[in-house]
Amino acid sequence: MRIGVVEDDDGVADALIDALAAHRIPAQRMVRGRDLLTRHPEFDLVLLDLGLPDMDGIEVLRSLRQVSAVPVIILTARDDERSVVRGLRNGADDYLVKPARMTELLARIEAIRRRASRARQTTTSTRQFGDLTIDLAARSLSLAGQPLTLTTKEFDLLAALVDNPGAAVSRQQLMDQVWGDAFVSVSKSLDVHMTALRAKLGRPARIETIRGFGYRWIG
Ligand code: CA
Repeated sequence: MRIGVVEDDDGVADALIDALAAHRIPAQRMVRGRDLLTRHPEFDLVLLDLGLPDMDGIEVLRSLRQVSAVPVIILTARDDERSVVRGLRNGADDYLVKPARMTELLARIEAIRRRASRARQTTTSTRQFGDLTIDLAARSLSLAGQPLTLTTKEFDLLAALVDNPGAAVSRQQLMDQVWGDAFVSVSKSLDVHMTALRAKLGRPARIETIRGFGYRWIG
């Protein structure tokens, strides 16, 4: 498990990272909220301060939740009820007030880790849509029994879409999942790969375009 610590206070950050290291949990520090928005795929869990130099932690969390479900524990000096509720409503998995007791923080990290591993165990890697079979773990697929070859990016795009059949997936989310950066323009690449993917899948209508937003997997 790799933990991302978003904290602008050097003393607090050092103490946290040392304490986690003492429990053999590798952690990396970021100072700005913006850093988390580009580096989040590196982490399995994030500890997020709210008072950050470039943007408010709640805004960071909102932007993060558009593209990622990585577990987030807010760790902040703000102990008023309104802040706690706003944090949880905007997608935090847990909320701790500084100075947090290390044993309590570790217990909460462990609880989130258990939930995540249970969720992983209940998902299988094969998806069937009519004559199309997709094995997400093996990264292979076949159409009417014939194997199909996709490029890495095409497969990643397909995987991101079929993960949520019937649900609208934003262009931003796809760019983030496939290119690792939703906040830099890779829009053209997305269009090119989407066209190629649709052509290979036999029926372009398997992927519906939602104008001004993104795409939806029809299957
Ligand atoms: Ca701070």
